[in-house]
Order: sequence, then structure tokens, then C-alpha cells
Amino acid sequence: MTPSPRPDLDLAALQERVTGRVHRPGEAGYTGLATPWNLAVATSPAAVVEVVSADDVSEALLFAAANGLPVAVQSTGHGIASDLDGALLIHTGRLDECTVHPEGWARVGAGVRWARLLAEAAPHGLAGPVGSAPDVGVVGYTTGGGIGPLARTWGAASDRVRAFDVVTGDGMVRRATAVDEPDLFWGLRGGKGALGVVTAVELDLVPQAEVYGGALYVDGAHAAAMLHTWREWCRGLPPEATTSVALLNLPEGVPGVPPPLAGRFTVAVRFVWTGDHGRGAELFTPLRAVAEPIIDMVGPMPFAQIGMVHADPVDPLPASEYNHLLRDLPAELVDALLEVAGPGTSSPQLMVEIRQLGGALAKEPAVPSAVCHRDAAYCLELVGVLVPPLAEALAAHARVVAEVVAPWDTGGVLPNFGAHAGAGGVARCYDDVTLARLTELAERYDPARLLRIGQVPPRTPAGVPAVTSPDVAVAAVAEAPATTADEEPTAQG
Ligand SMILES: Cc1cc2nc3c(=O)[nH]c(=O)nc-3n(C[C@H](O)[C@H](O)[C@H](O)COP(=O)(O)OP(=O)(O)OC[C@H]3O[C@@H](n4cnc5c(N)ncnc54)[C@H](O)[C@@H]3O)c2cc1C
Repeated sequence: MTPSPRPDLDLAALQERVTGRVHRPGEAGYTGLATPWNLAVATSPAAVVEVVSADDVSEALLFAAANGLPVAVQSTGHGIASDLDGALLIHTGRLDECTVHPEGWARVGAGVRWARLLAEAAPHGLAGPVGSAPDVGVVGYTTGGGIGPLARTWGAASDRVRAFDVVTGDGMVRRATAVDEPDLFWGLRGGKGALGVVTAVELDLVPQAEVYGGALYVDGAHAAAMLHTWREWCRGLPPEATTSVALLNLPEGVPGVPPPLAGRFTVAVRFVWTGDHGRGAELFTPLRAVAEPIIDMVGPMPFAQIGMVHADPVDPLPASEYNHLLRDLPAELVDALLEVAGPGTSSPQLMVEIRQLGGALAKEPAVPSAVCHRDAAYCLELVGVLVPPLAEALAAHARVVAEVVAPWDTGGVLPNFGAHAGAGGVARCYDDVTLARLTELAERYDPARLLRIGQVPPRTPAGVPAVTSPDVAVAAVAEAPATTADEEPTAQG
């Protein structure tokens, strides 16, 4: 629903100070920019500032501070964490610089998606640590750690960052590297938008023109055989292999769903091997032996086609997501998951996915970051489409799955999958020490806590939560007691 413009906000004054466009509710452009990829999150910000420079971001933050507005940042809207009602939304879509340096690194604006960076890197035989969906934004993904089909070989995307250009919550334009602003550099790698609005990132690319990889699909009747084979098989894989398995319930008549997979229960095994193709084919043999495939597209592939491995939906949809990090995947857990989410269980989920973690992901980068939970062995993700009458069924089913996995659940969640983790979600993304340091940095770099929407640490010391309603937000900040350096923060939720 489009909100009424707020007459007390002098948006004309903001427009005079920025080069980009200020979009008010009801104006052309507002709805398109304010609508996220995940249509389940209703957003009605007080205004959208389509920034074209770091100075624009700075002006927007100063305006928000002067008017008591919380600030949110959006590029593609793939990871919007909460309603933006009444906030000033900084839209970074026009920060579209993308320069690939053939010697192996790139400088990318905050509005650039992975698909573009990969296309520009490919002629140089280079690739990047993209996630499962190349339509996701490079900056939003990388600030959340970023784990994708190269994760076990090349680590988290944030491990490959050289520098961020960022406007911190206090309106200051800064450059953060391992040497300059090292605290900020630490917190921006894993801390998402808690400390500032990144305008550009510089990151190392990887020499990976091709991979041996893809997805193999079998009928749901083979789910038990495939999951158990995969479970045993992936335990012995070297870090050149990144793999996941997914129970899929793909609907009929939806663009992008291959007809042989539509309207039936199927299982997908995804495999990306970054080494020699022959060795990749050899390693994948046991999975091919499980059952006659419906589709087998595992083979040598140009890196630019990496999105086909997971074949995530491209068009916006109302998504429901639940995520768990697991310390192990014993046979009894596979059986228990099949009992609640396997074929014939009437699971309402579109996808129940298990990604193997470990490999390079498990190692701390040379310059430490705020990315936590590197010891988790697997990541379980439930994805559903929030359409009536499924909404309640999805939540109820997710609770059942949560009970099933509880004995192996680390309790953590990766920041990029934490957008819908609910109350306490931010705390689940970090260990206590990291959350305390991030909270302290948020107080330092964003003293008015303008960036208090979505996945941000709570205000110290009383744990005043990040909130979604601007009225509550402003009141909460006004009421929060002053912070002192030696006070312990309290985790949200
Ligand atoms: C289909 C799909 C597949 C995905 N696959 C993966 C995957 O394989 N691996 C993985 O790690 N994640 C994955 N994700 C999660 C994704 O990485 C996060 O949702 C990420 O936040 C999306 O960033 P965005 O900029 O595209 O989205 P947006 O919704 O525009 O931004 C999301 C959040 O990112 C932060 N952010 C964005 N821009 C900035 C900025 N300029 N400065 C500071 N903070 C910023 C903010 O916290 C913002 O709220 C997937 C999500 C979807 C929907």
C-alpha cells in the first residue's frame, strides 16, 4: 500500500542537495524502487532516494538524522529484512560502476548484480564468489559473508574483499581496508548494513573460466537413496568440490520451471568442481549410479552459466525462508527429514535444501571479519511461496522441521539467510563477542542509529531492539539510556 506523503518532510530541500532523484509516495518511480524482490515484505518508505554518489548517500543520511527518520538500504531487494514503513530508503541501483582488472580483481558499485560482474570478468578467464542466484547484488551479498557454489574452494565472498567505499551512519565518506579503518573493514565483512551504506567494493576475483558442474535431477521415489548416498559421498570430498542436495516440489505452469520437473516431487544434487574436469566426472560417478536421472546437466560449463547449478527463481515472489546451521548430518537425521519433508509427506515447501559447508569456508581469512559459524558443517534452508492457503502451513511445517533438526542445530544462522530469522535473528548470526563488537561499532559509526532497520544489532545497553515502525523506532532511541564503553550489550530477542 502506498502511504500518504508526509507534509512535514521537506523532500524538496533534500532533492536540492542530491544529484539523484528523490521519489515520494504516489510519484512515478516510487513503487518500482520501493518494491523488494521478496514480495512478502510490504514496504512503504516515507521516500526513496535514488543515489548516484557517496555525497548523495551522505546528504540522505544527514536529512534522515535531522528529521528523525530511520534509514534502510536496498539494491535488488533480494534480502529485505523487514518492512520499511516510514523509513528513508536509500536505493543504490544507479551506483553501477563495474571495472574488472585483468590481473584479478574488480571494483563494483553497490547497484551491480553478480550476473553483470561475471559477464565482465569472463573474457579475462576470471570469475567471482557468486551465490546460487547471480541476480543478487554483489555488495548486499558480500557484506553478509556470501556463500555460493565456489564456497568450499574459495571461501566466503567477504574473505576476498580488498576495500569498501562506505558512508557511515554519521554521514562521513570513508574507505575501509585492512589498514585504513580496520574496525570498519572487519565489521562490514559479515555485518551487512549495520555500520554504513557501502557505495563500492573492491574484491579479488578467481581464475575460473570453467567448472565441472551442474545439477542432476531424479524422481522423488529415489529421495531416500539419493540423500543417503549424497550424505556418505560428500563427507569425503576435497575442497575443490561444493555441493548441495534439494528436495523440490516445483509447481506446474510457472515460467522457468523445466516441464520434466514441474508438478512432481524431485531431488536435485548440485555439484561444482573447480579442479580438472576428468577428476570431477570421476568423483560424481556414485551419484549418477543412484537412479535414472530426469535431467543430468552436470559437465564442463562456462562459469557465466553458474546460475544453472541451483536454478533459483529469477522473478520476484512472496518467499518464506527458514534456515538452520547443522553441526552434522547423520543417517538418522536424513531419515527424520524425509519423514517430514520427503515425498508423500504433503510438505508445503517449494524446496528443502542442504548445502555442505566446510573446506575453505571453515578457515578464518588472513584478515579476520565478523563472519561467524565457520565450524557449521551443513546449512539447511526451507523455501516456500507465501500464497494463501500456504502461509500458515509453511510456518507450521517449518516448526516441525526445526524440532526434527534441533539435536544437530548449532543455533546459528548465516547473515545472508537471517533476514527472516525473526526475533533474535540478528543474535543468531553472530557469536556473543562478535555481536558485542558490532554493536559497539554501530554506536561509534552511527551514533544516532539511523541504520536501525532490518538486520542490525540492538542498541546498547538495554537491548532496545531494531524495530520496523519509525514511530516506535524514534521513541525507542529517544528512551534508550546513554551508552558507556564498559557496558555490555544485550542480544536482541
Ligand atoms: C533467490 C535467492 C538466492 C540466494 N542465494 C544466496 C546464496 O547462495 N548465498 C548467500 O550467501 N546468500 C544468498 N541469498 C541471500 C542474499 O545474499 C541476501 O539476501 C543479500 O542481502 C541480497 O543482497 P541484495 O543487495 O541483492 O538485496 P537487498 O535486499 O537490496 O539488500 C539486502 C540487505 O543487504 C544489505 N545491503 C544491501 N546493499 C547495501 C549497501 N550498499 N551497503 C550496506 N548494506 C547493504 C542491507 O542489509 C540490505 O537490507 C539469496 C537470496 C535469494 C533471494
